[in-house]
Amino acid sequence: MSETIYRDTWVEVDLDAIEYNIKQMKEKLPADSNIIAVVKADGYGHGSVQVAKKALQAGAKALAVALLEEALLLREASIDVPILVLGRVPPRGALIASEHDITLTFFQKEWLQEVNTYSFTKNLKLHMKWDTGMGRIGIRTEDELKGTLNALNENPNIYLTGVYTHFATADEKDLTYFYEQKDRFNKFWNVFKELWPHEVDIHIGNSAASIRLPNEMKDYIRFGISMYGLYPSNSVKEEKEIDLKQAFSLHSRFIHVKKLAPGESVSYGGTYTAEEEEYIGTIPIGYGDGWIRKLQGISVLVEGKRMPIIGRICMDQTMIRLDREYPVGTHVTLIGEQDNEVIEMDEIANYLDTINYEIPCIINHRVPRIYKEHNAYRSK
Ligand SMILES: *Cc1c(COP(=O)(O)O)cnc(C)c1O
Repeated sequence: MSETIYRDTWVEVDLDAIEYNIKQMKEKLPADSNIIAVVKADGYGHGSVQVAKKALQAGAKALAVALLEEALLLREASIDVPILVLGRVPPRGALIASEHDITLTFFQKEWLQEVNTYSFTKNLKLHMKWDTGMGRIGIRTEDELKGTLNALNENPNIYLTGVYTHFATADEKDLTYFYEQKDRFNKFWNVFKELWPHEVDIHIGNSAASIRLPNEMKDYIRFGISMYGLYPSNSVKEEKEIDLKQAFSLHSRFIHVKKLAPGESVSYGGTYTAEEEEYIGTIPIGYGDGWIRKLQGISVLVEGKRMPIIGRICMDQTMIRLDREYPVGTHVTLIGEQDNEVIEMDEIANYLDTINYEIPCIINHRVPRIYKEHNAYRSK
């Protein structure tokens, strides 16, 4: 571990797991379908640059992010593969995108009209987003499609290189709505083809769609959550279509261990009181790290045994009830595996009544990310 890290709390990102998950997905996909690794929100909290480099090494062909800022960060790290921004970048970002060969998403005629007034020295690549039922962003009608394609014809420096859509229910057991969206996409495609004879790339599937229906995907898939080793939903997990390895784990060490006498209490509000003599350990993590107060009561692993968080979680510290005395410095695992016992991301997500996607995103940058590869560690 790097000598520049002083705190005894860290996230470990297993880059071999990222590689494993990409390879599992590639095996399911037809040979002519490629992977866009989705590394938005700093690689779902894992670290976008490290994950992107590993994903490309493992066979992904392109990257996707949500913001222009996120794409520029990847370019600064000397990553030179195609990068697509999935969100709407304000028109004023179009010039800088073209200078760094970053592909932008568009779906509004007015956006194109404004971008058309700029003088480009390099070409701008665009993907067109179609809203086939997600109801978020995208072109919804044939009139909008025609209007935007007309505006596209006006600027010789702007190239349409792809079209795509996003499914709202690909992770649910019932695929009725998924197929309605797919039908709408195909109808749109037929109209589009008549108006636009040039070649474009097509991508429609996220992790859920690609894992469940790999043969129905197009030129690319947008592989996000399952690249990190997490299943998009319980129903996809239960279907066992793919084996995944969770890349993210969260660790700490006891900075203090003490014995409480009966009647003594712990943390703000004194909400926990010992009924008998017991040992309490303190770990240096709290809601200031994204380890939120609602996690009170959940267990952590100490020597592979589950022990509960008691009392209120503070901004920087959390207390654990122990089954005996442990030395200061003892390793505590909050998410992940320890001595053959595991606390999965899904367990934390279920406890918080949310989805696994949210958990690594909320463990913020106060917690350093340590990268593990071929059994060796390095810090960011
Ligand atoms: C985030 C995102 C993805 C990735 O979805 P996963 O479920 O994480 O695989 C794909 N496409 C779009 C448009 C997205 O915003």
